[in-house]
Amino acid sequence: MTFQSRIKIAIIGAGPVGSLCACFMAEYGYDVTVYESRTDIRHTETTIGRSINMALSERGINALQFINLDNIVIDELAEPMYGRMIHSIDGRKYNILYDILENKCLYSVNRNDLNAVLLTKLEKYQNVKLNFSHKLVDIDFKTTQLTFETLENPQKIVKPDIVIGCDGAYSTVRKNMIRLPMFNYSQMYIDHGYLEINLPSNLNKDILSAHYLHIWPRGTFMLIALPNKDKSWTCTLFMPMDKFPLLLESETENILSFFYKHFKDFTNLIHPKYLIDQVKNGKARTLISIKCNPYHVNDNFLLIGDAAHAIVPFYGQGMNAGFEDCTLLNLLLNEYEHDLNTVIKMFTSRRIHDTEAISDLAFYNYTEMRDLVARKSFLWRKKIDNI
Ligand code: FAD
Repeated sequence: MTFQSRIKIAIIGAGPVGSLCACFMAEYGYDVTVYESRTDIRHTETTIGRSINMALSERGINALQFINLDNIVIDELAEPMYGRMIHSIDGRKYNILYDILENKCLYSVNRNDLNAVLLTKLEKYQNVKLNFSHKLVDIDFKTTQLTFETLENPQKIVKPDIVIGCDGAYSTVRKNMIRLPMFNYSQMYIDHGYLEINLPSNLNKDILSAHYLHIWPRGTFMLIALPNKDKSWTCTLFMPMDKFPLLLESETENILSFFYKHFKDFTNLIHPKYLIDQVKNGKARTLISIKCNPYHVNDNFLLIGDAAHAIVPFYGQGMNAGFEDCTLLNLLLNEYEHDLNTVIKMFTSRRIHDTEAISDLAFYNYTEMRDLVARKSFLWRKKIDNI
């Protein structure tokens, strides 16, 4: 029996970050138990408008490499995107490549597919127990006692040695930390929200050319489209939350005229009824940015992923930053020779400047994507940058 196998680690949340973090810990032989409030997403039908495609970048890929999933994800789940394709209001298009020197790209990947691959990998470790329908409801930080609500038991109690909170932007682990002295926390809902629209495969390739992240920037709002492996597209309309009811509750012809006026080439791609169904059955969702400091309590509770630093999605780095948290954990485990208590205490100071920087950059990109990319001065600057 190794010393790692005697240490019980509880991972709260089996989203992308929790699943990846559990794999990392399992690789080292720790006794890992994962608690997820929902049922297994691999056996649950995806709700329309809740699929969310994500841009997977080098940060995320490097983390997946540690558990040999990088090539599987890239080959089997992902579509490369080599740049942005901007659609002007007058129908013209132009591209802005991400990397003109080495032709590097981002990968478009469906969040649920990626999560499912991670869960399947996780199940293969002998030293991992995966519990679905286990909702964390309470924490005693002194005794590390966790209380879960399950289908059979409204108060299931467990007592691990270490707790890693990966339970997302609305984290229960973090909610419990907020009550403790010297724990700083801030949250901000931005004015904009989003609505997801899914497009079928095999659409006009002249308009939706493959291997690009398509953007229709319109100043205070924008539409984006990300390619899927099956050649369908996941599109997201970002606009001020208070404008969504005007659109979603208006008459069919008003919805169509909004899309024709602002996104004509996009609207011409699909049957009007298909578009109307998607919009009318869709739901506008909010976007939140969360910061806290520190990420740990005592030397045995740690927050990572969105639970620690939820950011607005405009830089495409939320999950990637969560994956990079796992890479840093890995680095610290080696640096401090698996002294987990020290690793947990060191994590905040080694991570917080980077996560705050990416959060601020994501805010900047919020304006750039919907507005600045469409301005002449921006294009001129990009031209100069690219020389
Ligand atoms: P989550 O994905 O939120 O997972 C948390 C898990 O914890 C869930 O499974 C939840 O059920 C579970 N849970 C919650 N509470 C409890 C509890 N009390 N007990 C037990 N389990 C619990 N990121 C990118 O990198 N690239 C992108 O292009 C990108 N695009 C985005 C687009 C949009 C519109 C949005 C909204 C986000 C985008 N993101 C993107 C961000 C990305 O979705 C998140 O950063 C990522 O999902 C965070 O993963 P996580 O595992 O930390 O949290």
